[in-house]
Amino acid sequence: MKVVVDRSKCTGLGICESLASAFFEVDDDGDLLLLKEDIADHELAEVEEAVQSCPTEALRIVS
Ligand code: SF4
Repeated sequence: MKVVVDRSKCTGLGICESLASAFFEVDDDGDLLLLKEDIADHELAEVEEAVQSCPTEALRIVS
């Protein structure tokens, strides 16, 4: 599984970063950096939480 970002929806609030910092980082310009996209089984719960917590629904998990 992979996580994907819809950059047209992301507003750089960084909630995803606070929940799954191995995957997401908001840089100094407020742009989201996707540090990695492949999700290991043991990482799925935290990425799911980040996806569900994104206020703009910019994140998705795809298989
Ligand atoms: S929580 Fe959503 S809007 Fe905020 S930086 Fe992450 S993807 Fe972008």
